[in-house]
Amino acid sequence: MDVLKKVPVREQDAKERAANFKEVCLGYNKEEAMCEAERCINCKNAQCVKGCPVSINIPGFVEQVKLGNLEEAYKIISESSALPAICGRVCPQESQCEGKCIRGIKGEAISIGKLERFVADWARENGIKPEGAKEKNGKKVAVIGSGPAGLTCAGDLAKLGYDVTIFEALHEAGGVLVYGIPEFRLPKEDVVKKEIENVKSLGVKIETNVVVGKAVTIDELMEEEGFDAVFIGSGAGLPKFMGIPGEQANGVFSANEYLTRSNLMKAFDENSNTPIMHGKKVAVVGGGNVAMDAARTALRLGAETHIVYRRSEEELPARVEEVHHAKEEGIIFDLLTNPVEILADENGWVCGIKCVRMELGEPDASGRRRPVVVEGSEFVIEVDTVIMSLGTSPNPLISSTTEGLEVNKWKCIVADEEHGKTTKEGVYAGGDAVTGAATVILAMGAGKAGAKGIHEYLSSK
Ligand SMILES: Cc1cc2nc3c(=O)[nH]c(=O)nc-3n(C[C@H](O)[C@H](O)[C@H](O)COP(=O)(O)OP(=O)(O)OC[C@H]3O[C@@H](n4cnc5c(N)ncnc54)[C@H](O)[C@@H]3O)c2cc1C
Ligand code: SF4
Repeated sequence: MDVLKKVPVREQDAKERAANFKEVCLGYNKEEAMCEAERCINCKNAQCVKGCPVSINIPGFVEQVKLGNLEEAYKIISESSALPAICGRVCPQESQCEGKCIRGIKGEAISIGKLERFVADWARENGIKPEGAKEKNGKKVAVIGSGPAGLTCAGDLAKLGYDVTIFEALHEAGGVLVYGIPEFRLPKEDVVKKEIENVKSLGVKIETNVVVGKAVTIDELMEEEGFDAVFIGSGAGLPKFMGIPGEQANGVFSANEYLTRSNLMKAFDENSNTPIMHGKKVAVVGGGNVAMDAARTALRLGAETHIVYRRSEEELPARVEEVHHAKEEGIIFDLLTNPVEILADENGWVCGIKCVRMELGEPDASGRRRPVVVEGSEFVIEVDTVIMSLGTSPNPLISSTTEGLEVNKWKCIVADEEHGKTTKEGVYAGGDAVTGAATVILAMGAGKAGAKGIHEYLSSK
């Protein structure tokens, strides 16, 4: 074994997987996981833990994998994370725990994410669940939204003995984990639903089809329904568009709509009641994880798929692994390219996307080199579908129906990082609703901070 290199992980063949929705990464088996864990040198001052937003005791759980004590490894992870099978699959480990791993200085970092996923999958397959509270404390907390922020906050509060109810607007719990991230990266039945079941097994109730701000307000929850505190984890689901001519044409989608139709409404399934348009040639505008997910979904639905991104490969905000997988599967990257108009035929259907070539100038406020238009470089890519993946912002419904809840100029709820405390007494918030679109683990970290804040608040009352 070369200790400088990761134990390779098995994956579905690129050609095969480009035509199915089954999970791409097949994960480690026990032998491979124990072998990978052997590479960890159990650092005294473990940098990996500093890189983890929820401070999982990484050397502790990796040591138990090394010894083959998988139940103990699961217990250690569960002390800090309610959703390890999910985080092991979708966290940007390369810029968090693995990015800080000492092993990574001379060789390749320990595959912490793949080990976390292995342990969580093993626990699920062996029916092992996290431990709940011994006694209830009689206090009620409402959590709005069942994404990673809400689920984590609810799980942590239930473990402390609170009576927690999650109110979810959609008909299924999970937030972006069910409606955004596709099946081929994050299986819904076997992984997401099972981790949500674990949160429910702690005593958390989930009421779906309840839009807070319409069906009930936060003030009503607190004044009429007896909730002692509220945590808002309502995410950032409002899509942005470019504002260019032709965006109203038939065949233009936001990535959120496209992915929701595919993931939540099972539009990729031929027998679905809500089938999606199968484009022949699709352009996805944007370069983040969401753009990669939309492009790889369109590809699996049979389209020639292009990513249209205005900067170069170096600036692509998506995870390196996702870009690598997308390329392997045959996604075409049109880089340094920016759309200026969407062209439609006489019936109003998309028939092309007019673009300009870009070059990189001086760095802008974000530190990335600013893309500048190359004069006279207009050209047309013929496509029948355009998917806009330019980011999202929080929906203002909750803030506009809750007096005293301050938001910033981007409509993000103002809340302190350490406790999730908002400007309204008894109301806490975290995740994308506060930060704008970010990551699963940051939302989980904010859920934990919110639980801590609510516990301190209700303990002092
Ligand atoms: C396609 C896609 C791919 C992504 N890939 C990755 C990835 O690989 N790795 C990663 O770390 N992150 C990824 N992200 C980002 C990550 O998923 C989010 O940052 C994270 O889910 C935010 O969690 P949250 O709990 O704050 O919000 P969400 O997951 O958005 O959950 C919010 C929930 O609140 C509900 N809600 C909203 N308003 C109301 C209301 N008024 N009443 C009741 N319920 C309401 C929503 O229906 C939703 O279920 C991706 C995001 C998308 C869209
Ligand atoms: S930094 Fe890397 S080698 Fe050190 S304990 Fe963490 S995972 Fe192991």
